[in-house]
Amino acid sequence: MSEKKEIFLEKEIESSFVARKRLFIGLITTTSILVCLILLLLWLVPFVGLQNIHPAAPWVLGGIIVSGILFVAWASLSLVMNILLKRQVLFSGKIRGLSIRLFLPLMTIIGRMFGIPKQKIRSSFIKVNNELVLSENRKYSPDKVLMLMPHCLQKSICSRRLTYNVNNCKRCGECAISGLLELSEEFGVHLAIATGGTIARRIVVNLRPKIILAVACERDLSSGIQDTYPIPVYGVLNDRPMGPCLDTQVALDHVRRALELFVQKN
Ligand code: SF4
Repeated sequence: MSEKKEIFLEKEIESSFVARKRLFIGLITTTSILVCLILLLLWLVPFVGLQNIHPAAPWVLGGIIVSGILFVAWASLSLVMNILLKRQVLFSGKIRGLSIRLFLPLMTIIGRMFGIPKQKIRSSFIKVNNELVLSENRKYSPDKVLMLMPHCLQKSICSRRLTYNVNNCKRCGECAISGLLELSEEFGVHLAIATGGTIARRIVVNLRPKIILAVACERDLSSGIQDTYPIPVYGVLNDRPMGPCLDTQVALDHVRRALELFVQKN
């Protein structure tokens, strides 16, 4: 590929990342404002009725609701700052959990109300999740790193059974599995193939990794990130030139870069 084309592609990738981040920041801000308005309404509506119970009752409820508003404001502000500054700010150590547990479900609902496709919201969430994992700035011992791959990376005509033993691959080079096996050996990390969420969970329970480098589509990655919390997951989207779930591909240099970022050198 010519140098010009490479620069162009890099710029394209970078601008799509920025767009995904902007979408996430836009959604998180809208979600927080709506949640704060709902909390405010919850206080205003019964205000008159509560005074009949006890004169102090509206102020007690008001105190609870103001705490809720401050919490939502802190969470969304520190999340946005974390994304922009690429490091933890405003005591935001637990912010990844909040974004996974609280903001993603709310953002999906609100994004749908504005007609934003689910796939776009998920892809933006994965990008931001990756930045939050990176902002923790940690390296892991190789035996605590798991590369978790989807079954659809295997060539559909290949008869080798890889789910229980990925080493059954004879490394013919027809699909990404042979390259992934080489990377797992080079870095000394675990490599596993999952045919679905249940098997993926079982692999995680058995291997007890401290970090997961997962390759999948937007839907499986975002649900995997949610399922395995608090274990950090760095997600890499697969390419689907044949459509979903068939002969998918992954950029091995992207996987290598991620391994270089997270794996401790002995
Ligand atoms: S590299 Fe070859 S043997 Fe291994 S999974 Fe792919 S097609 Fe099958």
